[in-house]
Amino acid sequence: MDKEPAIDARTKTSSLHVGLIGDPVAHSYSPRMQQAAFDALGIKARYELWHTPAHALLERVSSLCDENYLGANVTIPHKEAILELMDKVDPLATRIGAVNTIVHRDGYLHGYNTDAPGLLDALHEHDIGTRQHDGTISLKDYTAVLLGAGGAARGAAFALAGAQVAQLIIVNRNLERAQLLAAEVQQTYGNPVFSLNDPQFLVPHTASLIINATSVGMHDEQTPLPAEILARFGPNTFVYDMIYNPTQTQLLCQARTMGMRSANGLSMLLHQGALAFTLWTGKPAPLDVMRAKLL
Ligand code: NAP
Repeated sequence: MDKEPAIDARTKTSSLHVGLIGDPVAHSYSPRMQQAAFDALGIKARYELWHTPAHALLERVSSLCDENYLGANVTIPHKEAILELMDKVDPLATRIGAVNTIVHRDGYLHGYNTDAPGLLDALHEHDIGTRQHDGTISLKDYTAVLLGAGGAARGAAFALAGAQVAQLIIVNRNLERAQLLAAEVQQTYGNPVFSLNDPQFLVPHTASLIINATSVGMHDEQTPLPAEILARFGPNTFVYDMIYNPTQTQLLCQARTMGMRSANGLSMLLHQGALAFTLWTGKPAPLDVMRAKLL
């Protein structure tokens, strides 16, 4: 006889809780997307916003060990600090140094990073990369310019190098941060990784993929890559901006004007969320239901 899925057995007795840990959290799109997914699959779970300042982080994480808690998503500014509070951390999250998804299993908390594979799934949705037989995505024909070396960029750098990009160039205002990340990634995966702190030094036509993982453009109309430098790249370049609010950053507007294909970070938000949903429930995420909540 088939064993009843663990999630179904748990929701027979009580309603489960899962939520977003961060400071701030009110702006997040995750509740509407995740709640719709639980509802669509008939899983009795509530996705909540857990505003958590740094001094309350330990108490919040401890509360997840209660049997009615499935786990959590983690956002700014706790993705790094929370890693130390996990009972077990997935190898990719350890390499990246950040956890964005916590899964509660039998009193133990497991930390994962779904931002990195979520970015690759998002790129694949935009026809970038090839899905391999083992389900992984290969970017071996691409050269990537990654703007930023903060938390999101760290995940992206490991994801891109793990997907075998031919060459990765990390551009960050703080050069030391870019150099450290480049060295870590190159040591792990062995592909050529370079670092710069001034986009002026980007060699023309080196990229087929430009990814913004800085926060430039989120609160202002600035661009992390001046138009005259973006113009050095060919029309086949794909520009991805992890920022999704505003939906059209200055970088994306300029890319579009230059005839390049481009997309904002909503697809990454969707796919990292879908991977988290599957980790919590053991079930495929209803992508279309989740996507509809982001439009
Ligand atoms: P973070 O750790 O604070 O890193 C910020 C990055 O932006 C650093 O590389 C920083 O450079 C750079 N930066 C900030 N202000 C700058 C300026 N004025 N000029 C040049 N560079 C500047 O933030 P994060 O967590 O990585 O997030 C970065 C962005 O990705 C945010 O917009 C976030 O919303 C987005 N994001 C989206 C998703 C998604 O699912 N779509 C997921 C995660 C993050 P320095 O190192 O020089 O300070």
